[in-house]
Amino acid sequence: MNHWRKDIATWRSGNTLHLSVVFTWHLTKAAQLADDFRRDHKTARILAGGPAVKLQGAPWADETPDTTPFDVLAMHNPCATFTTRGCPNRCPFCAVPKIEGPLRELPTWKPAPTVCDNNLLAASRTHFEKVIDSLRPFPACDFNQGLDARLLKYWHVDGLLSPTDPPSDSPSTTPKTPPPPKRPSTASPPAASRNDTLASTSSSASTIPPKTPTTDSKPSGAGASDPTPCDSSPSTPPNETTTSPRAGPKPNSAA
Ligand code: SF4
Repeated sequence: MNHWRKDIATWRSGNTLHLSVVFTWHLTKAAQLADDFRRDHKTARILAGGPAVKLQGAPWADETPDTTPFDVLAMHNPCATFTTRGCPNRCPFCAVPKIEGPLRELPTWKPAPTVCDNNLLAASRTHFEKVIDSLRPFPACDFNQGLDARLLKYWHVDGLLSPTDPPSDSPSTTPKTPPPPKRPSTASPPAASRNDTLASTSSSASTIPPKTPTTDSKPSGAGASDPTPCDSSPSTPPNETTTSPRAGPKPNSAA
């Protein structure tokens, strides 16, 4: 699941060079790429974005737009997705509150196994359960930014332990591993306290056990129907020509 580019994402449309810069220590290199592109293209236009640009700006760019028609996250990692942006907390060391503001739940997202939400457990139960449903096609998933143990509730645990869809290439009705045993009812907290926050640690990765395959269910609430082809390159937006310069290394598909 680690397909991160780990560098500046660059792509070209016509005479425009797009740069998405995540880390501030890549800004010098981004400026150099922009200079190189201008030297080689007389009518060059440079568009820059990403967290580093939002934090420190990009005076070397012609524009730093807030939105783009490109799936920029896929340029960094085709297996990654966001289902929320922002965070309700304001940790002093963190750039998320400055860049993204309060938590907001996205109405749709691309189903993908690397979930990059800054604070997924701060989302509503309805949203969280839709996210879990969208992850069912994947045998494992990575909550890339971690899960806030202080917010963990019993229904989060229920969702994280809930079954996945059977592998699409395996019509067998025999799961590889049995579903997890249900908690004894005597060990369950009273209904009134099931929404209480668990005082336990959380994991940033979850391997969801398979369920007994009975249906051919699809992700819900996510606006797409198939698992992300993580070994493929990001798709080219319509009416655009995406070519090199790809100045950074290719996506790290081997990591
Ligand atoms: S994303 Fe994490 S580190 Fe940043 S403000 Fe939210 S809880 Fe704090």
